[in-house]
Amino acid sequence: MAVVSLREETTGLLQELIRIDTVNPPGNETAAAEHLRSYLERNGVACELYAKVPDRANLVARIPGTGDGPRLLFLSHTDTVLADPQEWERDPWCGDLRDGEVWGRGALDMKGQVAASAVAMASLAREGYEPPGDLIFAACADEEVGAGFGLQWLVEAHPEAVRAEYCINEGGGDRLILDGRVFYVCSTAEKMSAPFRLTVHGRSGHASRPGIADNALVKTAPMIERLGSFRDEPEVGPELAAFLRAVCGEVPAPEDAVSAARRAHPLAGDIVEPLLGTTLAPTMVEASKKRNVIPNRCELTVDCRILPGHTQAEVEAKVAKLLGGTDYELEWIEAQGGTRSPVETRLWDVIESFVAEIEPDAQAVPLLVAGFTDSHWVREAFGTVAYGFFPMRAMDSELAARLIHSADERIDLDDLELGVRFLRHAAEGVASLP
Ligand SMILES: [Zn+2]
Repeated sequence: MAVVSLREETTGLLQELIRIDTVNPPGNETAAAEHLRSYLERNGVACELYAKVPDRANLVARIPGTGDGPRLLFLSHTDTVLADPQEWERDPWCGDLRDGEVWGRGALDMKGQVAASAVAMASLAREGYEPPGDLIFAACADEEVGAGFGLQWLVEAHPEAVRAEYCINEGGGDRLILDGRVFYVCSTAEKMSAPFRLTVHGRSGHASRPGIADNALVKTAPMIERLGSFRDEPEVGPELAAFLRAVCGEVPAPEDAVSAARRAHPLAGDIVEPLLGTTLAPTMVEASKKRNVIPNRCELTVDCRILPGHTQAEVEAKVAKLLGGTDYELEWIEAQGGTRSPVETRLWDVIESFVAEIEPDAQAVPLLVAGFTDSHWVREAFGTVAYGFFPMRAMDSELAARLIHSADERIDLDDLELGVRFLRHAAEGVASLP
């Protein structure tokens, strides 16, 4: 029998997963879940598919614990965003291996981590691994759209399938070089994405006689400017404090945080800036549908990201102050995320020990991130300590950030192998916790 390395095993599985088109919508994640199930069951890992509708299955695999030790969940999603083949150098669903990289939609976000998690489970099971608490792998549907078929539904309909004390998910692991020092970033908290719509009313009229109407679009224009120039009262939360301490050597006052980080490295300044408070970005405007009709109504959509620990009501008050004296209606479109896990946990120690093992001079640093992942569902439902960490050092983190949700997405085999090594380390680290 040929001996296949974990690197080759993960590469092969990732290629197969990329070739299963799971662009969401429509998703069709069941094909990926079934493929993972057959791979895992061949390797002695028990699996269950949970599906709200037949085409959108979530896979949950488990190596049962021998006792009531802490449970660790490898969390992931199998769906991807769309891809326009015309923009790509090769077919987005080819799964080709070229120059040590696997190409295709989802390679980074996040079929690479899906494959690495599955191989970590399979290889541990083959070795007869018996953790004190369950080791769980969830490959969920519908993360990219979030229409209620994925983890959100799973924690409500089948909470016991995914309940865990610790969780490793996507959203971190970037290797940053700041001021000559190396940091691996671990996402421990996420801002809330809470876009809202402002409606401004006026009175319609024929555009040839502007004087007799009340143009809602024109009334909205100064509001767009004020919202666009909004800067929140800066505040340094626990994650940002830890990041600044690592990068700057101390925690500066909130109003000096950006300049202090920028002195360490311009990139550090860019990272810190949006994390000091709520951000507002007006992005869409809709008024008259006809060139010669003055609109009696204008709708402005504002992308809004709120710091964990803050509320939409607080933002409404800030917007009211900012737009004082003007008449508008504010309507929240949705609110997702905005949760944190503590920075000082045993899972943190496990991540720190891994970084020390692979790169003794590097340091793990926590970070609050501006986007959100599925982590908030398990934090909210079970109080799970959930971190985003999938270490990446072969591919430059700026290049990786550019490729995600974009053309020519690919992952380096060295990073895939490093990911498997990390996940196996995490399982063993959590298992050895007192
Ligand atoms: Zn993702």
